[in-house]
Amino acid sequence: MAKNSGSVCVVKHWQDAPKMDESTLVDDLTRHFYYTLGRDKVGESQLYLYHALALTIRDRLVARCRATNQYLADKKTRKAAYISLEFLMGRALSNAVLNLDLEDKVRDALKEYCCELETVAQAEHDAGLGNGGLGRLAACFLDSCASLALPVIGYGIRYEYGMFNQKIEQGHQVEQPDNWLREGHPWELAAPEKAKRIKFSGHVVSHIDRSGREHREWIDTQDVLAVPYDVPIPGYKNEVVNTLRLWKSEATDEFDLNEFNAGSYSEAVAKKNLAEQITMVLYPNDTSENGKELRLRQQYFLSSASLQDIVDNWVERYGPSFNDFADYHVFQLNDTHPSIAVAELMRILVDDYELEWQEAWQITTSTMAYTNHTLLPEALEKWPVSLFARLLPRLLEIIYEINARFLTEVALKWPGDIGKQRALSLIEEGEQPQVRMAYLAIVGSYSVNGVAALHTELLKSGLFSDFYQLWPEKFNNKTNGVTPRRWLSHCNPQLASLISSKIGDAWKADFAKISDIRRYFDNKAFQQKWQQVKLENKQRLADLVSKECGVEFDVTMLFDVQVKRIHEYKRQLLNILHVIHLYDRICRGDTENLVPRCVLFGGKAAPGYYMAKKIIKLINNVASVINQDRAAHPFLRVAFLPNYNVSAMEVICAATDLSEQISTAGKEASGTGNMKFMMNGAVTIGTLDGANIEIRECVGADNFFLFGVTAEQAQQIRQDYKPMEIIDGCIELKRVMQLLESGHFNLFEPGIFDDIVNAIKCPSDPWLVAQDFPSYVKCQENASQAYEDKEHWLRMSILNTAASGKFSSDRTIQDYCDDIWRLSPMQLITAN
Ligand SMILES: *Cc1c(COP(=O)(O)O)cnc(C)c1O
Repeated sequence: MAKNSGSVCVVKHWQDAPKMDESTLVDDLTRHFYYTLGRDKVGESQLYLYHALALTIRDRLVARCRATNQYLADKKTRKAAYISLEFLMGRALSNAVLNLDLEDKVRDALKEYCCELETVAQAEHDAGLGNGGLGRLAACFLDSCASLALPVIGYGIRYEYGMFNQKIEQGHQVEQPDNWLREGHPWELAAPEKAKRIKFSGHVVSHIDRSGREHREWIDTQDVLAVPYDVPIPGYKNEVVNTLRLWKSEATDEFDLNEFNAGSYSEAVAKKNLAEQITMVLYPNDTSENGKELRLRQQYFLSSASLQDIVDNWVERYGPSFNDFADYHVFQLNDTHPSIAVAELMRILVDDYELEWQEAWQITTSTMAYTNHTLLPEALEKWPVSLFARLLPRLLEIIYEINARFLTEVALKWPGDIGKQRALSLIEEGEQPQVRMAYLAIVGSYSVNGVAALHTELLKSGLFSDFYQLWPEKFNNKTNGVTPRRWLSHCNPQLASLISSKIGDAWKADFAKISDIRRYFDNKAFQQKWQQVKLENKQRLADLVSKECGVEFDVTMLFDVQVKRIHEYKRQLLNILHVIHLYDRICRGDTENLVPRCVLFGGKAAPGYYMAKKIIKLINNVASVINQDRAAHPFLRVAFLPNYNVSAMEVICAATDLSEQISTAGKEASGTGNMKFMMNGAVTIGTLDGANIEIRECVGADNFFLFGVTAEQAQQIRQDYKPMEIIDGCIELKRVMQLLESGHFNLFEPGIFDDIVNAIKCPSDPWLVAQDFPSYVKCQENASQAYEDKEHWLRMSILNTAASGKFSSDRTIQDYCDDIWRLSPMQLITAN
């Protein structure tokens, strides 16, 4: 029990951590339900039961989190900070129950309330603090870091509104705000006493001290507070609980002193909004930047708060001496979004702690590491110098200084080559000069990594080739992965237990072992069970599709699924053209050998992305025509599932037969959806893009449906692309285009798909939709025929799961740790 020693309250000892047995769980659940929450009846929504259970589990997490932090406080240990504007966490309850190994006991405890864990868990709102792959990667990484017992803290933003909720009305996407905190967020603990002060605006003055050193001072600033909210991140059955620290912006107390004194009380209070706006909403742009001032504010707010947090902790323990600071810290920047951290660490060291520039730069460039996530030029962040000058004047000075010293290095490498200096400068010249954030990240980091083998090669040979020549040793690849706890154990418990029944359950912590089930790929009884599990998962998805879309999926049909953000490069358009082609075959009566399919789409479009929204509308219109056609019913069903998110993916990936990974080669950095599907025994139809290439290498060409041009060929073809000739030369595509152009899918909405038709026919179509259509259709036909041979398909399905070992984020994180972070696992003692 907690004891008082004088006025100091002693930290509750680890041995007093709440017990893990069922009867204590029931007691705590009841206490939280009746007293913490003040309820006496389980309502229909089970919301309060969920909250009571979450608090019961949180007690166990808090105890372990404290022990983890105590370990780190007692031991001078190298740590990593994973800094990301996005963490797409999804639900936390089932994951915590799984990782704490409490599943059976919690199920039993809930029996007292006549409730199933699954139903209670569904009362939880997804934490949707991210757009798509990049944010979900950050979430999988946190799970793997904790599961590998690595001292890693996540830093992010506590957006009041996460990723918008998507509704479909008359086939159009409609966005609704995601008020995810409305019913409370039981997992977080606020720590207002650890708030940080973040400066904005103002100006910089100079003064010279007695020794003649110049000091730059950033003054007359408009400050904002960053208040931390800590979310516990449990490792898998290892007693570790790491922390995700999310920052919320608040007004400082004195924000409005002058106005108070001047008597404008109300105006002053209203100003609080400006400060609170910073963390109000997640920008819903995936792989493109919108250049809004508020977004830059978010980026600096996160970077500054997180760095201050770490530096303050260091100084508190070791004093203001930074000699060995770099031996104990690494900052992993998740894309360029937090790359202002490079300049901010320099500001803290040089201005706040008066280090010499050289010393500060040495520390910065031995602690910063940058992950690039995209090859799309529109996603490379640039900020107008004028905006920087107004919002972050001191940071702009520091960037100029970094640039001046960097360009000296460039001049030494390429003497007299002014063009190189212009091309590599952190400042892009022009009418409106811009700061190139990716270049800042590269110059300031000791490691630059891509997220799949092809992506890293393309970075080295293309986008960043000059930097690669300058610093080849900085560049490395870290192929993405996903956590097998959420993406197999949790989302597909039946398959997980079938696997464990054969090979034990060591694969959950050591996913390379999943290859052991390869032994059973030809075993008839095993295949039978594998199929039974898939059928039940397909029924679960069919129920969801029926409820959300009113479309009936038949589990005997092939489930063909493409779920991901809607983007032209991901080519949902190519997929729907294939669907139209199948429909055309049905209309023509060409149904011999036609293998029945249910085609599912899902994904959100950025609200300002015109073409992506058109594609959603086209999918919905095509679906509506097909689903109403009685002739099509036995062969084809099409649905667009609204509001694709993590919880939806948990149902979808377990139920999929054919995983669509059909981006234009050279455009998808890695993909991670492809990995979730593979783990759950889906077979991929895909291009040679991103991690598809490595998936195919692992599973073997025979168990992967490959089509389309390579990244290299795509570059060539773009030089002289003639889509009209392809359309004329491909009768299937010609007929599809005729159906589209005749208005067959928009009889009462004339012209709405003209832009899509024109994009396909356009010689400058960067996505090469027409180019890959013929080989895609052929490949789909092969997939259909393979599905017809049930045993063949089951073998492929089992082999895909068996070959997915590489795509565990545990492997990815081990690679980050070995090559970039160089952390030692924590050695925690087990309590009760
Ligand atoms: C995995 C995942 C993604 C990434 O999917 P890709 O197919 O790699 O683009 C996006 N959104 C959600 C909700 C996911 O779970």
